[in-house]
Amino acid sequence: MQNALPTTVALHRQKGLDSAACSMCTSAWESFAHALFNCPHSKSVWKYSGFIMDYKKAQLMYNGDYLFHLSTLHSQIEFELIICIKWAIWWSRNKSLHGSKTLYGKQTATFAKDYLEKLKLSSSRKQSNASQRDYDTAGPSSSSNNDTAEVHW
Ligand SMILES: [Zn+2]
Repeated sequence: MQNALPTTVALHRQKGLDSAACSMCTSAWESFAHALFNCPHSKSVWKYSGFIMDYKKAQLMYNGDYLFHLSTLHSQIEFELIICIKWAIWWSRNKSLHGSKTLYGKQTATFAKDYLEKLKLSSSRKQSNASQRDYDTAGPSSSSNNDTAEVHW
């Protein structure tokens, strides 16, 4: 998965882009570690996620070894959320790259938590009700209730 992410550095190598600065903060050489952990945008997401990240270790990440390290520190449920937050960071980076308003760290962290909750809800519903496909009947989003809730691990 690491090597499939098209960071500016990778694109720079492949396609000869002019600049390999981060597309979010334009102040650092963009690497996977920077994009997902050390960029100010990513840091604010992690801050609101409640996870404590070792940014120095993340900076030295090579082919996901920091992720492996995280998987040894956290329970499976926590680690699932970490993966989901990473994905949400990437998603919100891409959105702002394509002209959408940048989501704040808190919004991105909340989005990731809600998404994972809904995913679990729908998969447990599927298990208990295997013959029924009821994605669309899940009802309106309840995410507005969670805006002020902060989870501490
Ligand atoms: Zn950056």
